[in-house]
Parts: sequence; C-alpha cells; structure tokens
Amino acid sequence: MKYILNTNSKTLHIEGYCCHTFCSDRKEFDSEDEARAYGRLNIKNCKTCFKNRDKELSKK
Ligand SMILES: [Zn+2]
Repeated sequence: MKYILNTNSKTLHIEGYCCHTFCSDRKEFDSEDEARAYGRLNIKNCKTCFKNRDKELSKK
C-alpha cells in the first residue's frame, strides 16, 4: 500500500482509493508514518481514501 501526499493541498491519499492520487504535485511514501513525519502536522487525510481503506480493512 502506497501513501501519496499531494504537496499542493497537503492532503494524504492512498494509492488506488480515489482519483486524486494522479495529481502532478505528489510525493510517495511506503507508510503512513513516513508521510506524517515528512508533513508534520500540516497534512490532512483524504476522507475518501481513508473511508475506503477502513471499509476494506473491516471486510477481512
Ligand atoms: Zn484520496
């Protein structure tokens, strides 16, 4: 699972969970922790991505 930070809007997306991961201003991370360490407290989670991830995780 890859985490993609949109450096423009400072929103953290998860690859494959919404259409916004294809933006040009992006930085990829292998883990959520890495992304957070990079962005400190200034980043917010993409609601769509994290909702879809939670849905997926609760299925298993
Ligand atoms: Zn997203």
